[in-house]
Amino acid sequence: MLKVEPINAYEDNYIWLVTTNEGSIVIDPGESKEIIKQMDNNLIDLKGILITHHHFDHTNGLSDLLNKKDLEVFGPKNNINGINNVVKEFDKFSIIGIHFEVIEIPGHTLDHLAFYSFNDGNPILFCGDTLFAGGCGRVFEGTFKQMFQSLKKIANYPKETKVYCGHEYTLANLKFALEVDSNNKDLKNEYMSIEDLISKNIPSLPTTMKKELKLNPFLRCNDIAIKNKIFEKFDIIDNELEIFTALRKWKDDF
Ligand SMILES: [Zn+2]
Repeated sequence: MLKVEPINAYEDNYIWLVTTNEGSIVIDPGESKEIIKQMDNNLIDLKGILITHHHFDHTNGLSDLLNKKDLEVFGPKNNINGINNVVKEFDKFSIIGIHFEVIEIPGHTLDHLAFYSFNDGNPILFCGDTLFAGGCGRVFEGTFKQMFQSLKKIANYPKETKVYCGHEYTLANLKFALEVDSNNKDLKNEYMSIEDLISKNIPSLPTTMKKELKLNPFLRCNDIAIKNKIFEKFDIIDNELEIFTALRKWKDDF
């Protein structure tokens, strides 16, 4: 059995702690304090680390953890200190009994990776700052086209995939989604249930691919409601990539 738990970091980052009977790994340790505490208290037997991209809030805890213990660190080729297993598109590896496959998803950064596991029919995806619940990451290093294609790529994974994102941005994302798609009843209901969770300090994640395909405007650039809104606001029609680009730029200033 596999267990995934969030560790809060910075303002709104999640470090994901994954545990099986063979030990634990963490994904994107932007900080080390809480992980080291759990190691010192023998609550976890840390075996490795996965890194989705180079941003400090996903990597800053690496050196402290490696000073404490030799660990297997999987991540992109980008001279990130501490990565001892550089991985790329289609690579497969196993750690703590979980078989992962590596997906390259440039856009937010050029080195961005996602880690997917079929996990005996309970698929999981760690996608850093690319797909968020109700939204997507900002385009910092790549092109809008790359981001668009990366999102399409991960959206092709099974609908029941549990999606673990790097930040708690869900409520703000849904607020924007409602601005774009204001008559969507499911979106309104989702906003209310997430608002309730957040008010109780409960993480809104993981989400599922099924839910994102249904609600996330960035995965629905073909949807008539989204198309109409973008046409109304920016005079852009038809081309899905242009609609995505307009949507992402609009969100940047929202
Ligand atoms: Zn980032």
